[in-house]
Amino acid sequence: MSQSPQREEALVQRWVRPEIGQMSAYAIPDERYAIKLDAMENPYSWPEAMVQAWLQRLQGVGVNRYPDPAARELTASLRQQLELPSAMGLILGNGSDELIQLLALTLGGAGRVVLAPEPGFVMYRMTAQFAAMAYVAVPLTTGFELDLDAMLAAIAHHQPALIYLAYPNNPTGNLFAEEEMEAILAAAPGWVVVDEAYHPFAGRSWVKRLGEFPNLLLLRTLSKMGLAGLRLGMLAGPQALVAEVNKVRLPYNINTLTQESALFALEHQAEFDRQTALIREQRQWLATALHQLPGVTPYPSAANFILLRMAPGQADMVAEGLKRAGTLIKNLSPVGGLLANCLRITVGTPEENSTLMTQLRALVQG
Ligand SMILES: *Cc1c(COP(=O)(O)O)cnc(C)c1O
Repeated sequence: MSQSPQREEALVQRWVRPEIGQMSAYAIPDERYAIKLDAMENPYSWPEAMVQAWLQRLQGVGVNRYPDPAARELTASLRQQLELPSAMGLILGNGSDELIQLLALTLGGAGRVVLAPEPGFVMYRMTAQFAAMAYVAVPLTTGFELDLDAMLAAIAHHQPALIYLAYPNNPTGNLFAEEEMEAILAAAPGWVVVDEAYHPFAGRSWVKRLGEFPNLLLLRTLSKMGLAGLRLGMLAGPQALVAEVNKVRLPYNINTLTQESALFALEHQAEFDRQTALIREQRQWLATALHQLPGVTPYPSAANFILLRMAPGQADMVAEGLKRAGTLIKNLSPVGGLLANCLRITVGTPEENSTLMTQLRALVQG
């Protein structure tokens, strides 16, 4: 068959949904760096004995059969770990990203609105676009707090089906004021998702308040705790809504290896608690060190990353300089707006953080 790129392009132009054609795919850097501090991963691997026990456990798992479609054992174990009120439903996703997408599929369609503060997590906007929903972004204040008046006005005007509040927020790292979140929950005509992706580092949660607000949903993930490669997220909320979201979930979305590995990991929660405690300590160390750099303003963080504002014109130079030195961080300056001149650094191991600081010092002091 002869190749016909024009014909292929014409088919794409004619049939791909215009709103998808206008999007770009979520960009993930593919080069390798000696130090990787861009994606909020836990830098620690497992003790050798734990790796051996895990491999042994997986030996008993057959991948010729489909997984348990409802992941019953894992769901029960997660309910306990979450201390979920028994009246609440729980649904699992292939990462919490998938649950964000399932919510859009469940609630979406023309005329439906997703609303979130900005800057915020990119997936809220992308999945709204997938589901032909309008996306309304309400700017945070310059201190990255909720602008409550603006939020309430936007809620009244747009009547969103879905509001996202990340707690703590990505990429700013702060926890929004609880009273302001309560006001949003009370004013929202639709669902409000409190996204606790960074729960292991935050020390605060809305889980006990499920049921107090009929429209409150809670999103969690095992990714940031140290299982990003497993892809496991959870959505908790009223049974009636969870049952509807469950209809758009593909039957075997949590694969057998993930189900067994997550169960294993939950039995070894103490190891993850140890690792996340180290990360919280290092967050403090890194914040203190960053404060001492000239022209650098680190923002307070309740997550496993720190957002910094650089002196004007320095963010791109520093991000590129770090790359040349073998360290990858996230340059948010190109996003502009409140993120102009901002960089986001994931907290790494003590060695990684100390190397990063040496590299940063050399760059900002020229
Ligand atoms: C990382 C992140 C997620 C997605 O995590 P998964 O790996 O898909 O579970 C969701 N929400 C926020 C705010 C995040 O930062």
